[in-house]
Amino acid sequence: MPTYLNADLHCHSVVSDGTLTPEALAVRAKANGVELWALTDHDEIGGQQRAAAAALALDLAYLTGVEISVSFAGKTVHIVGLGFDAQDATLKAGLIATRGGRGQRAMEMSDQLARVGITDAYQGALKFVGNPELISRTHFARFLVENGTCRDTNEVFRKYLTDGKPGFVEHRWAALKEAVSWITQAGGIAVIAHPARYGFSANEEYALFSEFKTHGGRGVEVVTGSHSAAECLRYADIAREFGLAASRGSDFHSPEESRTDLGTLPLLSADLTPVWEMVHEHIQAPAPH
Ligand code: AMP
Ligand code: MN
Ligand code: MN
Ligand code: MN
Repeated sequence: MPTYLNADLHCHSVVSDGTLTPEALAVRAKANGVELWALTDHDEIGGQQRAAAAALALDLAYLTGVEISVSFAGKTVHIVGLGFDAQDATLKAGLIATRGGRGQRAMEMSDQLARVGITDAYQGALKFVGNPELISRTHFARFLVENGTCRDTNEVFRKYLTDGKPGFVEHRWAALKEAVSWITQAGGIAVIAHPARYGFSANEEYALFSEFKTHGGRGVEVVTGSHSAAECLRYADIAREFGLAASRGSDFHSPEESRTDLGTLPLLSADLTPVWEMVHEHIQAPAPH
Protein backbone atom coordinates (compact mmCIF):
# COMPACT_ATOMS: atom_id res chain seq x y z
CA MET A 1 0.00 0.00 0.00
CA PRO A 2 1.98 3.00 -1.24
CA THR A 3 2.00 6.51 0.30
CA TYR A 4 1.50 8.00 -3.18
CA LEU A 5 -2.09 6.75 -3.37
CA ASN A 6 -4.63 9.52 -3.98
CA ALA A 7 -6.55 8.68 -0.81
CA ASP A 8 -9.21 11.05 0.51
CA LEU A 9 -10.23 9.87 3.96
CA HIS A 10 -12.22 12.82 5.31
CA CYS A 11 -15.43 14.38 3.95
CA HIS A 12 -19.08 14.99 4.87
CA SER A 13 -22.45 14.20 3.28
CA VAL A 14 -26.05 15.29 3.95
CA VAL A 15 -26.03 12.61 6.66
CA SER A 16 -24.12 15.20 8.74
CA ASP A 17 -23.22 18.74 7.64
CA GLY A 18 -22.24 18.26 4.00
CA THR A 19 -24.51 19.34 1.14
CA LEU A 20 -24.01 16.36 -1.22
CA THR A 21 -25.42 12.83 -0.92
CA PRO A 22 -23.03 9.91 -0.33
CA GLU A 23 -23.64 8.90 -3.97
CA ALA A 24 -22.82 12.37 -5.33
CA LEU A 25 -19.63 12.45 -3.23
CA ALA A 26 -18.56 9.07 -4.64
CA VAL A 27 -19.02 10.39 -8.19
CA ARG A 28 -17.08 13.55 -7.36
CA ALA A 29 -14.25 11.60 -5.68
CA LYS A 30 -13.96 9.29 -8.68
CA ALA A 31 -14.02 12.22 -11.15
CA ASN A 32 -11.25 13.93 -9.16
CA GLY A 33 -9.00 10.86 -9.33
CA VAL A 34 -9.44 9.57 -5.79
CA GLU A 35 -8.18 5.97 -5.50
CA LEU A 36 -9.24 5.23 -1.91
CA TRP A 37 -12.17 7.03 -0.32
CA ALA A 38 -13.87 7.28 3.09
CA LEU A 39 -17.01 9.21 4.03
CA THR A 40 -16.53 10.53 7.60
CA ASP A 41 -19.78 12.12 8.76
CA HIS A 42 -19.82 13.74 12.20
CA ASP A 43 -20.90 11.30 14.96
CA GLU A 44 -22.88 9.22 12.46
CA ILE A 45 -22.33 6.13 10.29
CA GLY A 46 -25.81 6.06 8.71
CA GLY A 47 -24.34 6.88 5.29
CA GLN A 48 -21.72 4.13 5.23
CA GLN A 49 -23.64 1.49 3.27
CA ARG A 50 -24.69 3.97 0.61
CA ALA A 51 -21.16 5.37 0.32
CA ALA A 52 -19.53 1.94 0.05
CA ALA A 53 -22.07 0.70 -2.52
CA ALA A 54 -21.70 3.86 -4.63
CA ALA A 55 -17.90 3.68 -4.46
CA LEU A 56 -17.71 0.02 -5.46
CA ALA A 57 -20.12 0.60 -8.37
CA LEU A 58 -17.65 3.23 -9.62
CA ASP A 59 -14.60 0.98 -9.19
CA LEU A 60 -13.43 3.06 -6.25
CA ALA A 61 -11.89 1.40 -3.17
CA TYR A 62 -13.59 2.30 0.10
CA LEU A 63 -12.86 2.41 3.85
CA THR A 64 -15.61 2.93 6.43
CA GLY A 65 -15.30 6.29 8.18
CA VAL A 66 -16.60 8.56 10.92
CA GLU A 67 -15.52 11.79 12.66
CA ILE A 68 -16.30 11.71 16.40
CA SER A 69 -16.67 14.89 18.49
CA VAL A 70 -14.61 14.72 21.68
CA SER A 71 -14.09 17.16 24.56
CA PHE A 72 -10.45 17.54 25.58
CA ALA A 73 -8.78 20.26 27.66
CA GLY A 74 -11.83 22.50 27.38
CA LYS A 75 -12.00 22.31 23.58
CA THR A 76 -13.67 20.16 20.94
CA VAL A 77 -11.31 17.73 19.25
CA HIS A 78 -12.28 15.53 16.30
CA ILE A 79 -11.22 11.89 16.10
CA VAL A 80 -11.58 10.18 12.73
CA GLY A 81 -12.21 6.43 12.68
CA LEU A 82 -11.35 4.38 9.59
CA GLY A 83 -11.81 0.75 8.57
CA PHE A 84 -14.12 -0.31 11.42
CA ASP A 85 -17.08 -2.71 11.28
CA ALA A 86 -20.08 -0.42 10.67
CA GLN A 87 -22.39 -2.99 12.28
CA ASP A 88 -20.50 -2.92 15.60
CA ALA A 89 -23.01 -2.45 18.44
CA THR A 90 -20.65 -0.65 20.86
CA LEU A 91 -19.59 1.86 18.23
CA LYS A 92 -23.21 2.46 17.20
CA ALA A 93 -24.29 2.99 20.84
CA GLY A 94 -21.40 5.39 21.45
CA LEU A 95 -22.34 7.45 18.41
CA ILE A 96 -26.01 7.57 19.43
CA ALA A 97 -24.93 8.89 22.84
CA THR A 98 -22.60 11.46 21.24
CA ARG A 99 -25.35 12.72 18.90
CA GLY A 100 -27.86 12.80 21.74
CA GLY A 101 -27.17 16.30 23.08
CA ARG A 102 -27.31 18.06 19.71
CA GLY A 103 -31.04 18.86 19.70
CA GLN A 104 -30.97 20.55 23.10
CA ARG A 105 -27.76 22.39 22.22
CA ALA A 106 -29.36 23.68 19.01
CA MET A 107 -32.33 25.07 20.94
CA GLU A 108 -29.96 26.82 23.34
CA MET A 109 -28.02 28.25 20.41
CA SER A 110 -31.28 29.52 18.97
CA ASP A 111 -32.26 31.17 22.31
CA GLN A 112 -28.89 32.90 22.50
CA LEU A 113 -29.12 34.13 18.92
CA ALA A 114 -32.63 35.49 19.67
CA ARG A 115 -31.07 37.65 22.40
CA VAL A 116 -28.95 39.41 19.78
CA GLY A 117 -31.95 39.89 17.49
CA ILE A 118 -31.70 36.82 15.25
CA THR A 119 -35.10 35.16 15.59
CA ASP A 120 -36.32 31.66 14.67
CA ALA A 121 -32.81 30.34 14.08
CA TYR A 122 -33.72 26.81 15.20
CA GLN A 123 -36.49 26.53 12.61
CA GLY A 124 -34.24 28.23 10.07
CA ALA A 125 -31.36 25.84 10.66
CA LEU A 126 -33.68 22.83 10.47
CA LYS A 127 -34.44 23.65 6.83
CA PHE A 128 -30.80 22.80 6.03
CA VAL A 129 -30.67 19.61 8.08
CA GLY A 130 -30.53 16.32 6.17
CA ASN A 131 -30.51 14.10 9.27
CA PRO A 132 -32.71 15.19 12.21
CA GLU A 133 -30.27 13.59 14.68
CA LEU A 134 -27.42 15.65 13.37
CA ILE A 135 -28.16 19.36 13.65
CA SER A 136 -24.84 21.19 13.71
CA ARG A 137 -23.42 24.69 13.83
CA THR A 138 -22.94 24.44 10.07
CA HIS A 139 -26.73 24.36 9.57
CA PHE A 140 -27.12 27.52 11.66
CA ALA A 141 -24.34 29.11 9.61
CA ARG A 142 -26.20 28.35 6.36
CA PHE A 143 -29.38 29.90 7.77
CA LEU A 144 -27.55 33.07 8.84
CA VAL A 145 -26.19 33.42 5.32
CA GLU A 146 -29.64 32.79 3.79
CA ASN A 147 -31.30 35.45 5.99
CA GLY A 148 -28.60 37.99 5.12
CA THR A 149 -26.99 38.27 8.57
CA CYS A 150 -23.59 37.35 7.08
CA ARG A 151 -22.04 37.02 3.63
CA ASP A 152 -20.64 33.52 4.08
CA THR A 153 -20.44 30.71 6.63
CA ASN A 154 -16.90 31.64 7.67
CA GLU A 155 -18.15 35.07 8.72
CA VAL A 156 -20.99 33.42 10.69
CA PHE A 157 -18.53 31.24 12.61
CA ARG A 158 -16.26 34.21 13.29
CA LYS A 159 -19.03 36.49 14.53
CA TYR A 160 -21.56 34.12 16.10
CA LEU A 161 -20.68 30.46 16.48
CA THR A 162 -17.23 30.21 18.08
CA ASP A 163 -16.22 30.33 21.76
CA GLY A 164 -17.11 33.69 23.31
CA LYS A 165 -19.51 34.70 20.52
CA PRO A 166 -23.28 35.13 21.07
CA GLY A 167 -24.50 31.87 19.48
CA PHE A 168 -21.85 29.59 21.00
CA VAL A 169 -23.02 26.96 23.48
CA GLU A 170 -20.45 25.05 25.48
CA HIS A 171 -21.02 21.33 24.96
CA ARG A 172 -19.79 18.09 26.52
CA TRP A 173 -18.91 15.57 23.79
CA ALA A 174 -17.43 12.06 24.17
CA ALA A 175 -14.24 11.50 26.16
CA LEU A 176 -11.05 10.90 24.13
CA LYS A 177 -10.63 7.44 25.62
CA GLU A 178 -14.20 6.44 24.74
CA ALA A 179 -14.04 7.60 21.12
CA VAL A 180 -10.70 5.86 20.52
CA SER A 181 -11.93 2.63 22.11
CA TRP A 182 -15.26 2.60 20.20
CA ILE A 183 -13.29 2.76 16.94
CA THR A 184 -10.53 0.31 17.81
CA GLN A 185 -12.74 -2.37 19.40
CA ALA A 186 -14.77 -2.25 16.15
CA GLY A 187 -11.58 -3.15 14.26
CA GLY A 188 -10.76 0.36 13.00
CA ILE A 189 -7.91 2.83 13.40
CA ALA A 190 -8.36 6.08 15.36
CA VAL A 191 -6.83 9.23 13.83
CA ILE A 192 -6.51 12.76 15.28
CA ALA A 193 -8.28 15.04 12.77
CA HIS A 194 -6.77 18.38 11.61
CA PRO A 195 -4.58 18.95 14.73
CA ALA A 196 -3.60 22.50 13.75
CA ARG A 197 -7.20 23.65 14.11
CA TYR A 198 -7.46 23.38 17.89
CA GLY A 199 -5.24 26.23 18.99
CA PHE A 200 -3.72 24.18 21.80
CA SER A 201 -0.60 25.28 23.64
CA ALA A 202 2.48 23.06 23.17
CA ASN A 203 1.76 21.36 26.51
CA GLU A 204 -1.91 20.72 25.71
CA GLU A 205 -1.01 19.35 22.31
CA TYR A 206 1.62 17.05 23.82
CA ALA A 207 -1.00 15.82 26.30
CA LEU A 208 -3.48 15.18 23.47
CA PHE A 209 -1.01 13.12 21.44
CA SER A 210 0.33 11.22 24.47
CA GLU A 211 -3.09 10.35 25.88
CA PHE A 212 -4.36 9.46 22.41
CA LYS A 213 -1.52 6.95 22.03
CA THR A 214 -2.06 5.56 25.52
CA HIS A 215 -5.70 4.88 24.66
CA GLY A 216 -4.73 3.04 21.47
CA GLY A 217 -4.90 5.84 18.88
CA ARG A 218 -2.59 5.18 15.92
CA GLY A 219 -2.90 7.93 13.33
CA VAL A 220 -2.88 11.67 12.69
CA GLU A 221 -4.09 13.75 9.76
CA VAL A 222 -1.01 15.29 8.22
CA VAL A 223 -2.29 16.47 4.84
CA THR A 224 -5.75 18.02 5.27
CA GLY A 225 -7.74 20.89 3.79
CA SER A 226 -7.43 22.54 7.23
CA HIS A 227 -3.61 22.70 7.19
CA SER A 228 -1.28 25.18 5.55
CA ALA A 229 1.80 23.76 3.79
CA ALA A 230 3.88 24.57 6.89
CA GLU A 231 1.39 22.78 9.14
CA CYS A 232 1.54 19.67 6.91
CA LEU A 233 5.33 19.60 7.49
CA ARG A 234 4.94 20.21 11.21
CA TYR A 235 2.46 17.35 11.70
CA ALA A 236 4.53 15.05 9.50
CA ASP A 237 7.31 15.60 12.05
CA ILE A 238 4.90 14.97 14.92
CA ALA A 239 3.73 11.74 13.26
CA ARG A 240 7.37 10.57 13.10
CA GLU A 241 8.07 11.67 16.69
CA PHE A 242 5.02 9.91 18.13
CA GLY A 243 5.24 6.88 15.83
CA LEU A 244 1.80 7.57 14.33
CA ALA A 245 0.56 6.66 10.87
CA ALA A 246 -0.34 9.58 8.61
CA SER A 247 -3.71 10.33 7.00
CA ARG A 248 -4.82 12.54 4.14
CA GLY A 249 -8.27 14.04 3.63
CA SER A 250 -9.88 17.15 2.17
CA ASP A 251 -12.65 17.63 4.81
CA PHE A 252 -14.85 18.51 1.85
CA HIS A 253 -18.38 19.65 2.84
CA SER A 254 -19.85 21.47 -0.13
CA PRO A 255 -18.94 22.74 -3.63
CA GLU A 256 -20.04 26.25 -2.57
CA GLU A 257 -18.36 26.39 0.85
CA SER A 258 -15.25 24.21 0.78
CA ARG A 259 -11.90 25.55 -0.33
CA THR A 260 -10.40 22.09 -0.83
CA ASP A 261 -12.10 19.67 -3.23
CA LEU A 262 -11.99 15.89 -2.90
CA GLY A 263 -8.72 14.34 -4.04
CA THR A 264 -6.85 17.56 -4.77
CA LEU A 265 -4.39 17.78 -1.85
CA PRO A 266 -0.64 17.08 -2.08
CA LEU A 267 0.41 13.46 -1.48
CA LEU A 268 1.83 12.22 1.81
CA SER A 269 5.59 12.34 2.18
CA ALA A 270 6.94 8.90 1.12
CA ASP A 271 8.72 8.17 4.42
CA LEU A 272 5.47 8.33 6.45
CA THR A 273 3.42 5.22 7.18
CA PRO A 274 0.00 5.80 5.59
CA VAL A 275 -3.03 4.95 7.73
CA TRP A 276 -4.38 2.72 4.97
CA GLU A 277 -1.48 0.34 5.58
CA MET A 278 -2.77 -0.28 9.13
CA VAL A 279 -6.28 -1.22 7.93
CA HIS A 280 -5.50 -2.61 4.46
CA GLU A 281 -7.44 -5.79 5.20
CA HIS A 282 -10.57 -3.66 5.74
CA ILE A 283 -10.43 -1.87 2.40
CA GLN A 284 -13.52 -2.71 0.36
CA ALA A 285 -12.11 -3.18 -3.12
CA PRO A 286 -14.03 -3.36 -6.41
CA ALA A 287 -14.20 -6.88 -7.86
CA PRO A 288 -11.36 -7.53 -10.34
CA HIS A 289 -12.46 -7.41 -14.01
P1 AMP B 1 -20.60 21.15 15.40
O1 AMP B 1 -20.21 19.71 15.30
O2 AMP B 1 -22.08 21.37 15.41
O3 AMP B 1 -19.89 21.88 16.52
O4 AMP B 1 -20.13 21.84 14.04
C1 AMP B 1 -18.78 21.76 13.67
C2 AMP B 1 -18.64 22.02 12.18
O5 AMP B 1 -18.73 23.39 11.93
C3 AMP B 1 -17.27 21.63 11.64
O6 AMP B 1 -17.21 20.27 11.33
C4 AMP B 1 -17.18 22.47 10.41
O7 AMP B 1 -17.89 21.86 9.36
C5 AMP B 1 -17.92 23.72 10.81
N1 AMP B 1 -16.98 24.80 11.23
C6 AMP B 1 -16.35 24.90 12.42
N2 AMP B 1 -15.62 26.03 12.45
C7 AMP B 1 -15.80 26.64 11.26
C8 AMP B 1 -15.32 27.84 10.67
N3 AMP B 1 -14.51 28.67 11.33
N4 AMP B 1 -15.73 28.14 9.43
C9 AMP B 1 -16.56 27.33 8.75
N5 AMP B 1 -17.04 26.17 9.25
C10 AMP B 1 -16.66 25.84 10.48
MN1 MN C 1 -18.36 19.69 9.53
MN1 MN D 1 -13.48 18.27 12.03
MN1 MN E 1 -14.69 17.04 9.11
